[in-house]
Amino acid sequence: MNQTPVIVVHGGAWKIPEEEHEPHMEGCRQAAIAGWEVLRSGGSALDAVETAVCLLEDDPTFDAGRGSCLNAVGEVEMDAIIMDGRTLRLGAVAAIRRVRHPVSLARLVMEVGLHNFLVGPGAEEFARQHGMALVSPEELVVERERVRWEAWRAGEGLYAAELFRPAGTVGAVALDREGNLAAATSTGGKPGKWPGRVGDSPLVGCGAYADNRSAAASATGDGEALMRILATGAVCARVAEGRSPQEAAEGILALLAERTGGCGGLIVLDPRGRYGIAHTTPHMAWAVVAADGHVRAGIRAG
Ligand code: ASP
Repeated sequence: MNQTPVIVVHGGAWKIPEEEHEPHMEGCRQAAIAGWEVLRSGGSALDAVETAVCLLEDDPTFDAGRGSCLNAVGEVEMDAIIMDGRTLRLGAVAAIRRVRHPVSLARLVMEVGLHNFLVGPGAEEFARQHGMALVSPEELVVERERVRWEAWRAGEGLYAAELFRPAGTVGAVALDREGNLAAATSTGGKPGKWPGRVGDSPLVGCGAYADNRSAAASATGDGEALMRILATGAVCARVAEGRSPQEAAEGILALLAERTGGCGGLIVLDPRGRYGIAHTTPHMAWAVVAADGHVRAGIRAG
């Protein structure tokens, strides 16, 4: 098969402050280009989404990996998932604190194949025993988030004033030359979350889903709402029924609002290379390298 590869990435859907628009778009653009390079040289969709998400996890602009928001007790706790659309194999991790690249630990969980989903210290011990270096949790904390957490704790209403502040969850979907789809999502979750809280992001069919027979999708936004409608599983099902990825993404976000009152964003890619980008938040950072190799990035879909 010689499918023309496509990659779409996102860097979170929320009310992104004006001064953060450029770094968000640039981070997404760089991640999409890195993933595209993997695909162009014959790499798999799985490798491409992992590469793109690793870059976004390293970029402190985003709420994933280093730069993650802090929970109620001032600590980083991260969730991630990766899924292979060819085999439907997946790996997921949640509430981890000492791993630089949660998406790579999710990939390791998938590759080892004993389990699909590991959480907390058990997930970290699994990483260590499989040769993945653990980092000090402090290495993942950036000054911006420390300041925001202090303000939140002092009750300054910083978060109340802004929709989903801050939530630069990241994700990627890719289609490789072999016609295989993959999806990945990684997040620090919601600021001020209860320790141990797990959002939609690492849950299969909620934060991400990939099936060569339908589509690949990654979600961001209000996790408590997104998981109630199985957002990414539902959007892939709509593509399988014949909707375009764009129509399906818009339809699922409308359903999210109707059934839960929640809002968020979705990226969706089908096996023909058609993609959809939609959000019901004021902004969503995204980038795509489409079949023609052209790179586009934005802060609003459309
Ligand atoms: N969905 C993520 C969560 O609830 C946050 C986000 O995407 O902004 O953990």
